[in-house]
Amino acid sequence: MSSQIGTVAQPLRVAIIGSGPAGFYAAEHLLKQHDVVVQVDMFDRLPTPFGLVRAGVAPDHQKIKSVTRAFERVAEQPGFRFFGYVEIGKDISVAELRQFYHQIVYATGAQTDRALDIPGIDLAGSHAATEFVAWYNGHPDYRDCEFDLSQERAVVIGIGNVAVDVARILCSTPEELAKTDIATYALEALQQSKVREVVMVGRRGVAQAAYSAPEIKELGELAETAVYVHPDEVTLDPLSAAALEEADRSTKRMVEITQGYAGNTTDKPRKLTIRFLLSPTELWGDESGQVTGMRLVRNELVAGRNGRLGANPTDQFEEIETGLVFRSIGYRGVPMPGVPFREDWGVIWNEHGRVVDAETHQPVIGEYTTGWIKRGPSGIIGTNKPDAVETVSLMLEDMQAGQIQQPDCPEPADAEAFIRQRQPNYFSYQDWQTLDRLEQEAGAALGRPRVKFTTIEEMLAAREEAAAQSPLTPA
Ligand code: NAP
Repeated sequence: MSSQIGTVAQPLRVAIIGSGPAGFYAAEHLLKQHDVVVQVDMFDRLPTPFGLVRAGVAPDHQKIKSVTRAFERVAEQPGFRFFGYVEIGKDISVAELRQFYHQIVYATGAQTDRALDIPGIDLAGSHAATEFVAWYNGHPDYRDCEFDLSQERAVVIGIGNVAVDVARILCSTPEELAKTDIATYALEALQQSKVREVVMVGRRGVAQAAYSAPEIKELGELAETAVYVHPDEVTLDPLSAAALEEADRSTKRMVEITQGYAGNTTDKPRKLTIRFLLSPTELWGDESGQVTGMRLVRNELVAGRNGRLGANPTDQFEEIETGLVFRSIGYRGVPMPGVPFREDWGVIWNEHGRVVDAETHQPVIGEYTTGWIKRGPSGIIGTNKPDAVETVSLMLEDMQAGQIQQPDCPEPADAEAFIRQRQPNYFSYQDWQTLDRLEQEAGAALGRPRVKFTTIEEMLAAREEAAAQSPLTPA
């Protein structure tokens, strides 16, 4: 019977959990098959799609966000449905979902931060960068976070692209921010910010920095911020110099740009210093529990495994006074109830995208994963495309081999009725298009790309109001 699946009479029914780039690239590849008819139902716990493109990519990086145009074209295809504001694992369990689909794809990304286990890390004023990012991007779960921007100096731990985003947002002027789609409350808070100095701290050297060349160059283009590095910290040691000889052009360029900041004599109202070869060992605070400073150990580079240079602590320490700390040392995936999870890597147990049992490593029939929850939080948005293609190729191979689930209720209407029963307020793609239009209209009035809705209540009310104004549009 399964041999007929993938035909007009019996389309392959796929649920994709998560509507970020990973989920959309998987949907795109599934829906563009010529000889297999596929129907995709995409779920997101938020009413709004696009995952980290909306809630992670920096608000001043609108060009990167324009990738959503490609996702919009996927959503326009007849086999595609969006169910926003439906949380799999809460509103609907994975076991329940299996009744409706031949295949399920987990594309839930990395929803939390990697832990930094040092004394004082939980003091007030010490935050995960992921929370700050979600806050300034208007993620409903983070809009009520509070950051003490009355501090003069902030320290960002880590030197990846997220750390650069955080530093850049902290160093941007109100005028620079006002042109973006940053959440309005964040714009207002940052307009009052007293932060005048940001220090980024990398545990290894300049040649091992995780940020990329365009991002580090952009820091030097900020209107009111001068970027500095310590000349001795960006002078290459013999191991790094040898490694850089073999590195690609973009790494060489990244190092060159960073080293170029060594001679910076510009004086601007704000200062951003990038430090290298330092690891925080402890934060301390005042009697109210507010962070006031940080102790760091100087590292030296040593040859590690797989040709990677590692950071070894020396006996030299230094201290930095600060009341605001952001740890930006990477994202981490969270488990989905009922799905095998690899705790040590923070990913779903899988082999090239096929979910496998944690003990036996045998494939879990009909279950797949893609994106950061499959491979860990690395790469740029486009990296998720080949990743999704790999997963979808295995899905199609398994379908041909009859290795799919046999759902009791494969009719699209059955799935919709069940979803509606569990979440009567779910958001369709058309509902999202209404929110999108309203956000862009509000933005246009202010010369901004959009003004985001940042609470579920606002989104529900906006949909209701729009439906009342155009009664022909189904709510
Ligand atoms: P990331 O690129 O993995 O960088 C993490 C940083 O944290 C590295 O500098 C790492 O140093 C450091 N780190 C890790 N553990 C540490 C520890 N225990 N103590 C001190 N430092 C530690 O992660 P990310 O910045 O969160 O970015 C995630 C992904 O999104 C990346 O692929 C990034 O390129 C991408 N992204 C891209 C853009 C863009 O294209 N504009 C923007 C944002 C994010 P080591 O190298 O020594 O481990």
